[in-house]
Amino acid sequence: MHKNFKNIDRVVYGRGAFNHLSDIINPIRKENNQYFVYIVDNYFKDKELANRLQNKKEDLIYFIDVDPHEPTTEQVDQLRDEIITTKGLPSGVIGIGGGSIMDIAKALSLMLTNQGSSAQYQGLNLIKKPGVYHLGVPTISGTGAEVSMTAVLTGPEKKLGIKCDYTVFNQVILDPTLIATVPKDKWFYTGMDTYIHCIESENGIKRNAFSAAYAQTALKLCREVYLDEYSGQTPENDDKLMVASLMGGLSLTYSEVGVCHALSYGLSKILGYKHCFANCVIFQHLDDIYPDGVKDFKEMLIKNGIELPTGLSKNWDDATITAMAEVSYNLPFMWQHAFGDNFKETIDIDYIKSLFKRM
Ligand code: NAD
Ligand code: ZN
Repeated sequence: MHKNFKNIDRVVYGRGAFNHLSDIINPIRKENNQYFVYIVDNYFKDKELANRLQNKKEDLIYFIDVDPHEPTTEQVDQLRDEIITTKGLPSGVIGIGGGSIMDIAKALSLMLTNQGSSAQYQGLNLIKKPGVYHLGVPTISGTGAEVSMTAVLTGPEKKLGIKCDYTVFNQVILDPTLIATVPKDKWFYTGMDTYIHCIESENGIKRNAFSAAYAQTALKLCREVYLDEYSGQTPENDDKLMVASLMGGLSLTYSEVGVCHALSYGLSKILGYKHCFANCVIFQHLDDIYPDGVKDFKEMLIKNGIELPTGLSKNWDDATITAMAEVSYNLPFMWQHAFGDNFKETIDIDYIKSLFKRM
């Protein structure tokens, strides 16, 4: 079956594009109870951007600290209950921040119109009704959450996305000036998520000319941003990274991620590692699976002065490694993409445990 994927309805790109926010949302303000909910990364609370939100007095603004943990089903349910009790159904939800905020905004939009807990809807096409209008403004680039069909949440049982056509943003505003303040380590880890998305998308049986076109362009941009002569955090590179993130997301939508992401889900679910950092910690050890990708990755680490921890598995007991391996094993579509339809002949829990022991 060919994927018939849902793309973002509208995209505006360019330095200063964020200033169009009020013009973009004004026509939507007549919907439902005629107000907007803003979900903004807490980093911006006392920054200049907080004065440029273009909100109206009836709007609700939530500043959310995404650092303690990745978005959870409980967090989205609570937010939804509070909003519905306070003001009823909003015209729309605006997410301003990184992948965590993108996912909270997407999930919230859906949960405002669907009954029960978001945990019930973790999986493919479980959502019953379209959500309210939702608009994403990324402020750190790499996850591709701005374009993906999924809102990744950690629930009581699993870390899994709410994935369906309705999850995709109605509008995205890509303004590269917004990512200028990202600290160097986060700029590296999150940007590398895109790099790894593309390496994995390219190396597997689901690769095709459509996914490859996006991956190859995004990889070229990543090399310019992280490796080449003019690499580093510059306005020109911010322009490129924002596009690379979007293209990396589109590439994996039409192909699949692979071994690094399968392991990363285990590390996040069992030990709470953040997605992009976890990917970097793992990817450095996958030279036999992605030789060219890992070689350039290691050069990027040196070029940008990033040091990743090693020797971590010495402190993990067998039960922890087994638990992580089980989470990873339960993502068969990633293993199938990376190792082919007969992957079960070579990939078992012991092999996956051996990969965790490399870390
Ligand atoms: P994030 O949203 O977790 O934010 C990372 C850090 O960067 C935070 O400390 C935040 O405050 C800070 N930050 C964000 N913008 C900033 C700015 N402009 N200046 C200074 N600091 C800034 O980061 P992320 O790496 O983009 O997202 C990770 C999350 O995305 C994970 O929860 C992961 O599960 C999810 N994810 C989702 C998808 C998807 O398709 N939905 C794909 C990959 C990852
Ligand atoms: Zn990723």
